[in-house]
Amino acid sequence: SPASRDKAFVLHPYTNLKAHETQGPMIIDRGQGVRVYDDSGKEYIEGLASLWCVSLGWGQERLVEAAARQMRKLATYHTFTHKSHEPMIDLAEALLKLAPVPMSKVFFANSGSEANDTVIKIIWYYNNALGRPEKKKILSRLKAYHGVTVATASLTGLPNNHRDFDLPIARIQHLDCPHHYRFAEPGETEEQFATRLAENLEAHILAEGPDTVAAMFAEPIMGAGGVIIPPETYFAKIQPILKKYDVLLIADEVICGFGRTGNFWGSETVGMQPDILTCAKQLSSGYLPISAVMVNEKVYQAMVAESEKIGIFGHGFTYSAHPVAAAVALETLKIYEDMDMLNHVRSVSPRFLERLTALGDHPLIGEARGIGLIGAVELVADKETKTPFEPAGMAGAKVNALGHEQGVITRAMGDRIAFCPPLVIGTDDIDEMFDRFTRALDAAI
Ligand code: PLP
Repeated sequence: SPASRDKAFVLHPYTNLKAHETQGPMIIDRGQGVRVYDDSGKEYIEGLASLWCVSLGWGQERLVEAAARQMRKLATYHTFTHKSHEPMIDLAEALLKLAPVPMSKVFFANSGSEANDTVIKIIWYYNNALGRPEKKKILSRLKAYHGVTVATASLTGLPNNHRDFDLPIARIQHLDCPHHYRFAEPGETEEQFATRLAENLEAHILAEGPDTVAAMFAEPIMGAGGVIIPPETYFAKIQPILKKYDVLLIADEVICGFGRTGNFWGSETVGMQPDILTCAKQLSSGYLPISAVMVNEKVYQAMVAESEKIGIFGHGFTYSAHPVAAAVALETLKIYEDMDMLNHVRSVSPRFLERLTALGDHPLIGEARGIGLIGAVELVADKETKTPFEPAGMAGAKVNALGHEQGVITRAMGDRIAFCPPLVIGTDDIDEMFDRFTRALDAAI
């Protein structure tokens, strides 16, 4: 059977490999709209849009057509050493027009990890260009998710991405996670919490030496770490400190970009003014792998000077701006415009947030949090004391599995369960998704 052949042949990402030998796979066979169907024909609402990416849902014929058209015309070509093609040029122009702050140039890669990995190299190249060989440390945050390559897994602030992989690498440092519910001191307001985190950031930069700190990565809303929404004034407080010590700010918009938080960019939602921005996932509605890095003029000019000096910007992927992926991404952006996607998100998100926050009354849930069309619930053993379940992650896995039985796919990240449905979801399906999830929660008590 396909299940036994899966067990025989496949090494699965992000999986307990031993458990998989007995449990086996969940085989998803097809998708339509916000629903997917497994190989037995069972139907699920995809409450996480695959992995935070299928903004337009399944079965978007315009994307299929865009891919087929480009495949017939120029199925593949590289972009090294002055080679180019129109899908890449058009997509770069479109992204620069959409950027939340003035950006100068776009570099393409194939995944969020590759985009962020590229940025780490750009940051080091930039500081070498400016004659600052010591200014190389990069700041990230506990519970951040920036990818799984050697360098980006190091940026990621989650133990499972470091443990037994001998990570993080040197020069990457993790600071406070801006999650008030978990990390505020007793009685501390959101405002006071944000102030304390900003003070910690400045103290850290001073202790390390400002001449050694190059950049800080931040997701506007932290996704895989548990959908963590920072205090309202958090970025307003930390950005002046970064500016003061000439530390670049990188917005990782891999999940937040393209309408997810109710604005086109998460940076707009939280007031970030990044020097560099990365995006992926909803850039192509997840139909083909593509990601982008946008750099501002200051960064670009230093890169130009360095490439002239040493003869090359020696970085790029065989499939940087793969023409079929670029064509699909361009068509995705056109569909967002044609469907007035942002207004759709703004019109349905109040219902999404109403149903999500209502889950906060459930005895198993300590906090229900969300913004736009992304959110999470945090399962706790005791609501009063916020005591987590033991062992960590068991409750999340159980509720998630019960959700599958009820026909809703969500994602458990430890004992936090995330919702991030396709952006095209309507209010009826939002209700159906939460009805199914509530039945799963009730079954877990
Ligand atoms: N950055 C963020 C914020 C992400 O959520 C992810 C993946 O979920 C990545 C980077 C890594 O992207 P990829 O899995 O495409 O390498």
